[in-house]
Amino acid sequence: MTDGVFIGLGSNLDTPEQQLRTAIGAMGELPHTRVLRSSSFYLSAPVGPGDQPDYINAVAELETTLEPEALLDALQTIEAAHGRERSVRWGARTLDLDILLFGREVTDSERLQVPHPRIGERNFVLVPLAELAPALTLPTGESLQELLKHCPRNRLQKLG
Ligand code: ATP
Ligand code: CA
Ligand code: CA
Repeated sequence: MTDGVFIGLGSNLDTPEQQLRTAIGAMGELPHTRVLRSSSFYLSAPVGPGDQPDYINAVAELETTLEPEALLDALQTIEAAHGRERSVRWGARTLDLDILLFGREVTDSERLQVPHPRIGERNFVLVPLAELAPALTLPTGESLQELLKHCPRNRLQKLG
C-alpha cells in the first residue's frame, strides 16, 4: 500500500466542477484504491495556447496498491470516460488527471514522470497541494513551501 499519492485534477470544459466531483468519485471506485482527502476547488487562469475558459483545479490524496503505471492507465480511462480528447497540447479539456507524487517514488520513463516535472511552476497545483500537506518535501528534496515562494503568481481564486 502506498499513501502520499497526490493527483492533480483540472477541467475547463462542460461543467468543470461536476467533472472534478465525478472524477474524485471514480478514483474512489478504482481497485485497491481509496481517496483519503481532496482539496478545495480553485479557479485558475488558463496557461495553454489560444483563448480558453478558466480552469477549475484541485488535488486529491489517494492510497493504493496499484503500481504507478497501472494507476496512470486507470486515470487515463477515467479521463476518456469524461470525454477527454487529446488534440492540442495544453488545450482545453473536460478532465486532466496528473500523478503529482507517488509516495517517495521517482519515475522517469517516456510515459510517466513522477514527481510531475512542472509542479513548481504551477500555483494551481502547489496551493491545493499545500492545503493537504503543508509540510511536504518532494523526493527531490525541495520543500513545498520553498516552491510556493518562487512560483509565478498567476491568477488563482479559492472557491467557497
Ligand atoms: P502537463 O503534463 O504539462 O500537465 P498535460 O497534462 O496537458 O500536460 P497530457 O496531454 O494530459 O498532458 O498528457 C501527456 C502524457 O503525459 C500522457 O500521455 C502521459 O503518458 C504523460 N505523463 C508523464 N508523466 C505523467 C504524470 N506524472 N501524470 C500523468 N501523465 C503523465
Ligand atoms: Ca496536466
Ligand atoms: Ca495530464
